[in-house]
Amino acid sequence: MLNLPENFQSYSEARQQGFMRMKELKEKGKKVVGVFCTYTPSELVLAAGAVPVGLCGVSDEPIPYAEKSLPKNLCPLIKSSYGSAASDTCPYFYFSDMILAESTCDGKKKMYEMMHELKYTHVMQLPPGRSGEMALASWHNEMLRLKEVLEEQLGTVITDEDIKEAIRLKNRERKAMLDFFEIGKLKPSPLSGYEISTIIDTNSFLFDTEEKIALLNERTAQLKEDYARNFAGRPSRPRILITGCPSGGVREKIIRQIEESGADIVGFENCCGPRAQIDMVDDSLDPYWALAEKYLRVNCSVMSPNPGRIEALEEMLSDYQVDGVIEIVLQACHTFAIESDRVKKFLTTEKNIPYLYLETDYSQTDTGQISTRISAFLEILQGY
Ligand code: SF4
Ligand code: SF4
Repeated sequence: MLNLPENFQSYSEARQQGFMRMKELKEKGKKVVGVFCTYTPSELVLAAGAVPVGLCGVSDEPIPYAEKSLPKNLCPLIKSSYGSAASDTCPYFYFSDMILAESTCDGKKKMYEMMHELKYTHVMQLPPGRSGEMALASWHNEMLRLKEVLEEQLGTVITDEDIKEAIRLKNRERKAMLDFFEIGKLKPSPLSGYEISTIIDTNSFLFDTEEKIALLNERTAQLKEDYARNFAGRPSRPRILITGCPSGGVREKIIRQIEESGADIVGFENCCGPRAQIDMVDDSLDPYWALAEKYLRVNCSVMSPNPGRIEALEEMLSDYQVDGVIEIVLQACHTFAIESDRVKKFLTTEKNIPYLYLETDYSQTDTGQISTRISAFLEILQGY
């Protein structure tokens, strides 16, 4: 069994406590904006004096409810997000004054039309690719449009100085998260991938950014000390990098399973890892252009083409001293499933790194099969 520290806070405990914190904030009159994706320019939400909160989308419980109106053969993340909102089981959706979304994959953008019937949902029109001047110009326009929408919906005024202040705050938060993720570069790793992913997700239920930064910095310093005292010089287990779709919904089924089978997950090349943190917002530029440039650089498979993801993978392979890569693709996620061919060729042919592709959903029906495939993969790694 995975050994977790005594004071380790589970995702559901943190979610519950976050709910109480959010209730207090609402009682004090704070505005809340529900968000879903790494493309969200949360700086504009902060500049509007509101709290951005990530909405629920990692549980399989609301999926049967969602399947009353959505197709069964759809990404579980989309079904879970919609089901949590529609069945009133996401307290954060309930408390949100509005929802802020982006036109990323087809499933999500069509689902947002239905979500809008439940609560006002503004969908930013993300360009399908980042090349050419038009892509950046249209994304910049979407930033300007979002400012107007936030002002209208939240009854506020956003100044350039408010945005710059939010940019500086979010850059400091990014730096704290990046330092925390980089603990995974230590060999052997002083904390599990299960902890890395849970700590980052539980931190999202703290709504005071300064508090988040302080807690992350403290945790990182403790881990560095722990490494120097108890880990340095010891042998390492096989080091795994996770790539593909967001993995929060399969944390128990896959992330925990990999580590209980004898490997360490040292990094995440997905939206649960440093993808959004690695790249700061330039606070010397016009804030709308700076935000447009930063958020257009997110390496998600919904972008065509998406060469930045291969570059990010290459960098992480060497920085995190990776022995093998496991790609997690959620059922019916066409963009990541198609891009996996490029990822596999890059890893196995160009880099000679063992690669495992796991396609799954949030149910428990394939737990046994996944466990067998993980064990077989780790055996291959031991003999590499
Ligand atoms: S994988 Fe893509 S669509 Fe999904 S949260 Fe990340 S950036 Fe958004
Ligand atoms: S995992 Fe894929 S299908 Fe699911 S929401 Fe993200 S991009 Fe869309």
